[in-house]
Amino acid sequence: MTRPDPTAASASEARLTLFDLPLDVVTLEQTLDRLGGWMFRAPRSPHTVVTLNPEFIVQSRTQPEFVRAMQEADLVTADGVGIVWAARQLHGREVPRAPGYDIVKGLMQRHGSELRVFFLGARPGVAEQAAQNAMRDYGIQVAGVHHGYFDSSEDQRVAELVGASGAHLVLTGMGAGRQEIFNQYWRQVLAAPVLLGCGGVIDVFAGTADLAPAWTRKLGVEFIWRVGLDRKRWNRAPRLAQFMRLVQAEKRRQGRGTQ
Ligand code: UDP
Repeated sequence: MTRPDPTAASASEARLTLFDLPLDVVTLEQTLDRLGGWMFRAPRSPHTVVTLNPEFIVQSRTQPEFVRAMQEADLVTADGVGIVWAARQLHGREVPRAPGYDIVKGLMQRHGSELRVFFLGARPGVAEQAAQNAMRDYGIQVAGVHHGYFDSSEDQRVAELVGASGAHLVLTGMGAGRQEIFNQYWRQVLAAPVLLGCGGVIDVFAGTADLAPAWTRKLGVEFIWRVGLDRKRWNRAPRLAQFMRLVQAEKRRQGRGTQ
């Protein structure tokens, strides 16, 4: 009997289009299977993974390079409830969530000491702390660490450092857009089989940012917690409102198109 190929999309998985961006209908488990296949089965070619959230959609409206990086990604999951809501509004489809933090934790739990991770991003010192904690808690191997505050003139040097590290998994946490564009542009140099844009996940592993409480994550409303509690994020609330308006406008446009 042949075992199913976990790197292949199963018949139940589909790719939707949200505005002009792809969104894969995959559960967390399917995501972990797919990424595990990419990391541990030949050929170990590089793959980019995006965890889509409403801010990406709003921000990318004025950033064509960000749109392109997401369009070219190998896997695009729904990071949170905002995207699930938008898919329901625009496609009448229930899309499962596969948030960045859950993906990273799931991979570490599944693969433990087999897994070599490069932590790329956050303020100096934070990636080191995250790596130490992940090593202690999950027994992973640390392929390398680098902070995320370097000039774009240093992109190649950093990409080569990652490429030489032999990582299976690169966690790129350098802010929305920057991290996806970096992963996509440098994918061949980064060379690791999974390149994941992970936002603030490195901070969460380091303990410098709190994960939203479990109940908000279960309901998929952790953004309310994050926006509400973190003053730095207050300026983001208008973006969420803008996202909701964008979705409603798109829905009206689609409705007119079918009449
Ligand atoms: N970050 C970084 N370099 C930058 C900007 C941000 O490494 O130039 C890091 C930041 O320290 C944090 C992560 O990227 O660890 C996510 O940052 P933030 O929440 O501000 O960005 P978002 O993903 O919400 O755009």
